[in-house]
Amino acid sequence: MAKTAIVTGASRGIGRTIAKRLAADGFAVVVNYAGNSELAQEVVNEIRSADGEALAVKADVSNPDDVKQLFDKTIEAYGHVDVVVNNAGIMPLSSIAKGDVETFDKVIQTNLRGAFLVLSQAAQHVAEGGRIIAFSSSVLAKSFPTYGPYIASKAGVEGLVPVLANELRGRNITVNAVAPGPTGTDLFLNGKTQEQIAQLSKLAPLERLGQPEDIANVVAFLAGPDGGWVNAQVLRANGGFA
Ligand code: NAP
Repeated sequence: MAKTAIVTGASRGIGRTIAKRLAADGFAVVVNYAGNSELAQEVVNEIRSADGEALAVKADVSNPDDVKQLFDKTIEAYGHVDVVVNNAGIMPLSSIAKGDVETFDKVIQTNLRGAFLVLSQAAQHVAEGGRIIAFSSSVLAKSFPTYGPYIASKAGVEGLVPVLANELRGRNITVNAVAPGPTGTDLFLNGKTQEQIAQLSKLAPLERLGQPEDIANVVAFLAGPDGGWVNAQVLRANGGFA
């Protein structure tokens, strides 16, 4: 029986590539999304046409009922959950001085409350030997102006990961976070000028922008047989952007 992976935010960007990679690695994949049902269905179709198994499930990760039904539908379809990748996230930027509490609340809701809810369901449902992977960001180390709400949300995620690893003692389940550096997706590219993109791309010693595949490779490692001894870590995958 195929192992099952839930990937949140898998309609676009990094999550889309993770879903396709895990499907290629033999997982039945639940492709979660917030609103883009067409794109999510496209991912499912691409996986199926490569002889993989996949299902699209709409759920807002910040909504407890949605997250519960994401797990319920996965278990209904596949009987078990082996890997959970909480990749869904947003990055609106706003200076602290501006005091834009709506932006702050929205980012915390999606990125931190969302991670809390998904990790909670994962802790309840992931099978023995399973893997739980959250998403942080390498931008934590940079403290760029306007990144306050986003960095606060991801610092919270980095706090949750080792606590959950401890709470799952004895169940042979690993809990880790992946923290990408700048990666060529809507989240990074939207709202930036070509100059800003070029400048940020050069910050890593490897002098290029990360691609979703670079991050999917790391997730596949953590989710697969070779990643089993990595636990309670934040894996910074960023070409040396530090
Ligand atoms: P992206 O291209 O903007 O894609 C975001 C995905 O998350 C979409 O599938 C979107 O679904 C989904 N999503 C957004 N809000 C959601 C919600 N409330 N519930 C469920 N799904 C939701 O972003 P990305 O660049 O791939 O980012 C993926 C993760 O990597 C995020 O956690 C981000 O913080 C992290 N990260 C990214 C970078 C980077 O440079 N790109 C760097 C460091 C960390 P819809 O299509 O339905 O809207």
